Amino acid sequence: MTLSDAHQNCQDTFQDVAASPNYTFIGNVHLGQELPLPLLAKHYDAIVFAYGASKDRKLGLTGEDKPHIYSARAFVGWYNGLPEYRDLDPDLKAGETAIVVGQGNVALDVARTLLSKVDDLRKTDITEYALETLSQSKIRHVHVIGRRGPMQAAFTIKEVRELLHLDDVNFTPIPSEFFPQDLKSLPRPRRRLLELLQKGSPVKEKATKSWSLDFLLAPKSIEWSTENPDRLESVTFSKTELEDPDSSESKVSATKETVTLPTSTLFRSIGYKAEAIPGMDELGANFDERKGTIQHDGAGRIVPLETVPQPGSSTPKNASLYCSGWVKRGPTGVIASTMTDAFQTAEAIVDDWKKTFHNSDISEAAQENLAPKRLGWQGVLRDAKSMNLDLQPVHWENWQNIDREEKRVGQARGKPREKFGSVNEMLQVSGK
Ligand code: NAP
Repeated sequence: MTLSDAHQNCQDTFQDVAASPNYTFIGNVHLGQELPLPLLAKHYDAIVFAYGASKDRKLGLTGEDKPHIYSARAFVGWYNGLPEYRDLDPDLKAGETAIVVGQGNVALDVARTLLSKVDDLRKTDITEYALETLSQSKIRHVHVIGRRGPMQAAFTIKEVRELLHLDDVNFTPIPSEFFPQDLKSLPRPRRRLLELLQKGSPVKEKATKSWSLDFLLAPKSIEWSTENPDRLESVTFSKTELEDPDSSESKVSATKETVTLPTSTLFRSIGYKAEAIPGMDELGANFDERKGTIQHDGAGRIVPLETVPQPGSSTPKNASLYCSGWVKRGPTGVIASTMTDAFQTAEAIVDDWKKTFHNSDISEAAQENLAPKRLGWQGVLRDAKSMNLDLQPVHWENWQNIDREEKRVGQARGKPREKFGSVNEMLQVSGK
């Protein structure tokens, strides 16, 4: 999508870091697959797991894996050029209505992409194959559905505003009973968000598309056409009740009343989940399957440094393990929250390093002995060779070749870049 300042900032900072002589970029290597984690841990002092959340949560409804039902994560990955979703090929021609279950920013990203004019999307770095599919879309109305109310919605104001400002798209006004009586007493961010939702957007006479935020509906079942069992027909929701409507933390429970909404396409957008990397447990890391996060001490330490070795003794056996980002905290928060979190983990690493290897009670000469002599990537390559492991690492200069080629192809089409849809295509231009 269009690069926001935050995204541009991230890219620039990443490039500055990559330019440092102390930095080695190693891509195209799957940890826990062709490279066993214990091998990495042997050759480094510290490992930070910052690999985010690569799975999405499911609704748990019968038929959820059938055609015309998509994970929002897969759909976003598909139009953004993630190779693993290249073949998703969503059918957007089955009917005029789409339902997105969930009211977070990912749900709004999906709605915005479905409702935007293709000519506007063409100016962004959205993939060419997605533009082709979106240009044939028949979807005219998108319901974005939450099980709680506006007070509890997970999306943020900037993302709602972008949707409200879309040309050619009307917003269905939200009935007043969904709003708390007294908005003025709310904390400022929530008050501003609710005021924006209450105001909605002026009716655009020529609009051909529309969207709505539908509240207090929890998905209950999915219905299929009796003539064609592969044709999605509707989704039934239980109406819900909030325990404490004015609290942003309110619990919710289903009532006996239901609502059935006809639809041809359904997206589930109810959050992401991280997965464990094979071999983590061997290193002492505990992955909490229920939360989808790695257990840590609050500051990002998974397994602390092994007890300080005495001068002259052997160095600690394995790297210390840390985590950061969604695999540490769960899949919430925007880029700024992830940055704050990364600073905290970095501080923990530096503190541990100082405590262990720069202990003022130990003489400088002894400290020299203490600092472990790890071989880093060279050590990994050496062992991988003797173990006959097939590693095909991509380095920073290879990535720069891919980056240049994506920009070149994109700019010829009037967009910032054209992303490659497959790893093979990337490797071909990487100069490897
Ligand atoms: P999210 O913000 O956690 O929202 C998940 C939504 O799904 C909530 O409305 C939640 O409702 C609902 N939900 C969860 N389980 C459900 C169930 N069983 N049935 C019905 N509804 C259910 O997740 P997300 O949208 O995937 O976003 C993940 C993170 O990425 C967020 O922090 C988001 O802000 C961030 N993000 C940011 C941007 C941006 O900055 N532009 C773009 C995309 C994503 P309840 O609240 O009732 O649980």
